[in-house]
Amino acid sequence: MPEQAPVLVVGAGPAGLTAAAELSRRGVPVRVVDKADAPSPLTKALMVWPRTLEVLRQLGGAEHLSAYGLPIDSFRYYSEARQICRIPFDARTQPSVVTQPDVEALLRASLEAAGGRVEWGTLLTGLEQDPDSVRATLRTADGGERTESFSYAIGADGAGSTVRKLLGLEFQGSTYPNVFILADTSVEGELQRDAVHYYQSSRGILVMVPLYNGRFRIFTAAPPTLRQEDLSDQVLQEYVDSRGPGGLRLHDVDWRTTFNIHARHTDRFGVGRVFVAGDAAHIHSPAGGQGLNTGVTDAHNLAWKLALVHAGRAVPELLDSYQDERTVVAAGVVRQAELQTRAWLLKKRWQVLLRDFSARQAQWSGLFDRYYSPWLAGLTNRYPAGPAVAGSQQRRGTFVNGCLVPELPVRAAGQPGTVRLRDVLPDDRYTLLLTGPAGASRPRSAAAEALLAEYPELLALRTVGPGGALVPAPGHDRWSRRATAVLVRPDHHVAAQDRGEDLGELRAHLAGVLTPAATVERHRSAASSTV
Ligand SMILES: Cc1cc2nc3c(=O)[nH]c(=O)nc-3n(C[C@H](O)[C@H](O)[C@H](O)COP(=O)(O)OP(=O)(O)OC[C@H]3O[C@@H](n4cnc5c(N)ncnc54)[C@H](O)[C@@H]3O)c2cc1C
Repeated sequence: MPEQAPVLVVGAGPAGLTAAAELSRRGVPVRVVDKADAPSPLTKALMVWPRTLEVLRQLGGAEHLSAYGLPIDSFRYYSEARQICRIPFDARTQPSVVTQPDVEALLRASLEAAGGRVEWGTLLTGLEQDPDSVRATLRTADGGERTESFSYAIGADGAGSTVRKLLGLEFQGSTYPNVFILADTSVEGELQRDAVHYYQSSRGILVMVPLYNGRFRIFTAAPPTLRQEDLSDQVLQEYVDSRGPGGLRLHDVDWRTTFNIHARHTDRFGVGRVFVAGDAAHIHSPAGGQGLNTGVTDAHNLAWKLALVHAGRAVPELLDSYQDERTVVAAGVVRQAELQTRAWLLKKRWQVLLRDFSARQAQWSGLFDRYYSPWLAGLTNRYPAGPAVAGSQQRRGTFVNGCLVPELPVRAAGQPGTVRLRDVLPDDRYTLLLTGPAGASRPRSAAAEALLAEYPELLALRTVGPGGALVPAPGHDRWSRRATAVLVRPDHHVAAQDRGEDLGELRAHLAGVLTPAATVERHRSAASSTV
């Protein structure tokens, strides 16, 4: 049965806003509360990777991203000011620097376009649940406190998450002893502005990231005794002089702060009707620039599932896959960030030599291009088998169960130019993609039509090949020659594949997840006859 009560989203940072905007545009009533009085102007996170860019574009942010984004051409690593390796990005893996307030503004605009808004100055203080609902206690700025009912709740309330604590989830991991320094500043001197520079030296790490307004973000490690009030312009200049390439002069520093780095994640991403997402579920060093990205993609993974379950169109077990899929991603991100942070902080000569040698080898052998850049870009997550990915894990081939649909160039019938297959698939429903020599055989077409009739509004059909809705770009059609039916989820990960003529495997997978239109209709009639 469809749920009536809204979903509560606690926290209007990147994760909460993504969840709220995604749910709202899918027709789910949402309440978003945040204890702050207004959006934070602090730049904080700034590296946005292709998978996140894709999600933000789907939320209507394409123009905003081209206005406020600065595409990054490469990461450059130095040891004692000599470049040891360079990781170049291509059209598929290229990140963009977009500061956190700009990402949040884009997401708030998307939420507002779907009819939602943030309730600022509203603090969540209590949370209880039973099998049918969630009750949340909210305190407003005037001191008023009320308890309200919701269908589900999402704790996107940051590293100190109240929701996580009220659920009793552990936040396992550790905190680095060092203090880290951030500053946004103008820089005079020779420094390439489309690259991120990592200066590693016996004096410590210095990272310099260009910002779209011609300035730079500086990030460096300091002794544990350093206090925020010690961060004068002169102290910052000394760090850059001693650790950087030399010849750089800082001026107009407009934000400076000290902070601690943690490496922690929860073992579960929710309990019952309450979920956690973003920093509430995982925090780590900014090495690799994944923080904001993982939060946005957590929320994106959860929202389409929750929207289907909320509307009574999918079984509640679909929500279990949120935890199964995202715990693996979060653990990987925390591990990678920790590895890189430790590598930055190495001081012993043999360790530094080994690190520098390994980095050169990885560049020379193409490891960075093949594995690291696509991973950073958020394109290589393979979700495990479960309610949202068919059990017969197919591990090879163009389409891999649990993985994103790859970047295949296609032409949409009747439209000029080549586009990526992923960009022309709907994101509000599953897609049944039929490939084969002549699109689809008669029995497969009939089986596909029967599935469409069973799940109208939840399933779209796209035939690939001559005469189909999509035609592979010339020279890129090998993948489409074999007769296969691929079931793609609304988030464009592959749910299942079927080479059979009757599409029996896909039918079984869908039956385990979605509620057919006829069943929904029966429930509706039964409900109206009892009124
Ligand atoms: C100083 C600093 C620098 C950073 N630099 C980087 C960087 O360079 N790269 C990077 O990737 N990441 C960086 N991060 C991390 C990045 O900012 C986070 O990963 C990102 O903000 C997480 O988004 P979120 O939506 O999960 O949580 P948040 O952005 O923390 O949002 C949580 C929201 O919940 C609200 N809230 C909390 N408790 C309650 C409650 N009980 N009731 C109601 N509302 C509540 C808060 O007011 C807040 O608005 C930095 C963080 C900090 C603090």
